[in-house]
Amino acid sequence: MNWETLTQIDRRHIWHPYAAMPNTQPVYAVARAEGCSIELADGKRLVDGTSSWWAALHGYNHPRLNAAAAAQLAKMSHVMFGGLTHEPAVRLTQLLLELLPPTLNQVFYADSGSVAVEVAMKMALQYQQAVGQGKRCRFATIRAGYHGDTWHAMSVCDPEEGMHGLFSSSLPVQYFLPQPASPFHGEWQPESIRPLENLLAEKHDELAALILEPVVQGAAGGMYFYHPEYLRQARALCSRYGVLLIFDEIATGFGRSGEMFALEHAGVVPDIILLGKGLTGGYLTLSAAVCTEEVSAAISRGQAGAFMHGPTFMANPLACAVAAESVAMLRESPWRQRVANIEQTLRRKLAAAAQWRCVREVRVLGAIGVLEMAQPVNTASLQPRLVEKGVWVRPFGRLVYLMPPFVISQQELDFLAEQTLAAVAEEYGEAWPQSE
Ligand code: PMP
Repeated sequence: MNWETLTQIDRRHIWHPYAAMPNTQPVYAVARAEGCSIELADGKRLVDGTSSWWAALHGYNHPRLNAAAAAQLAKMSHVMFGGLTHEPAVRLTQLLLELLPPTLNQVFYADSGSVAVEVAMKMALQYQQAVGQGKRCRFATIRAGYHGDTWHAMSVCDPEEGMHGLFSSSLPVQYFLPQPASPFHGEWQPESIRPLENLLAEKHDELAALILEPVVQGAAGGMYFYHPEYLRQARALCSRYGVLLIFDEIATGFGRSGEMFALEHAGVVPDIILLGKGLTGGYLTLSAAVCTEEVSAAISRGQAGAFMHGPTFMANPLACAVAAESVAMLRESPWRQRVANIEQTLRRKLAAAAQWRCVREVRVLGAIGVLEMAQPVNTASLQPRLVEKGVWVRPFGRLVYLMPPFVISQQELDFLAEQTLAAVAEEYGEAWPQSE
């Protein structure tokens, strides 16, 4: 198809994320992608700074993942999971069990991150009913969180940055605590936990679960990194008050924060963990809600005698086969050194921008580098500059952030960081280059 026709049809007829119709923002047609490079229809190559929203850990078009998909396709792309099972689901489960804390071993496969969040919230409600706490039907979370765009997931997203304003008349009302005041790299301030302490003391008999993105608050939270001690104390409080603890590791899972799972920064284990995005190495949509046997046993003893969820594409064999290969590849790779090297490079390169008037703060953790701007970014103007400079970076709100695939080469990483800074400097009239 002619690329011009393609983009015209796209603009007129296809919704894009958080976009109007017809789309007012530029959309670039991609011809192919390989490694850390995205090739546009006009032949321009962009170094990827997004991992396609945290997902493409091993880069694009990886021969091993392609081979895993092809081998599975030759057997079957999909069969229903009601009454049937298959090796890809079982193999993936074995691999996940080897990585996860041992008590998290009851795996529910769902279609996307948001659906995994719905599943976890439903698990919490069925659990509380089963243990005779049916009045516990609300959720607590911290402000500036993001957990997805489906209904209950949306209800625990930040009430201001999220879509509460639009849907307030019909969204379930949850309890919001302040964003933990102690940052990851700072001193722990004991007052940070007081609001949670107070809420649980007063409202525990209404609360089914506390849901948190551990350590890293992603998109809605402005890529804020908070102190792991918050999680240790939250764990103790939840256990004391019979409130389940859900960790949403859909973004942080699989090494992104420098640990395989962000919970390892704190050394605590939730009752339910959510995985997605990087689970398939960014190839296909698949997520998992993994709970403890205590949770699954209670649900199974409860009124329904079963967990009441069962998507059509549950444990899709093609997605599970690719996910199993991706997890195996990650384990075999020196991912920890790679992430540490990305962290070091981003810290060194992005430091220059900390002096700029347009930048409020520069933050780096694991393979995540963030320029928090003083004002919301004009994406319509900055995005073309970034593309012009040969990098694929997707600014959002007040954030210009980099989270490249772990396999990025040093040369590509240097280029990515330098060209991103160059585009930002140009946009805001800052002097660049500067000596490091
Ligand atoms: N939770 C977190 C922490 C996320 O970052 C996201 C996606 N950005 C989701 C849930 C929702 O996942 P999905 O977009 O696959 O529905």
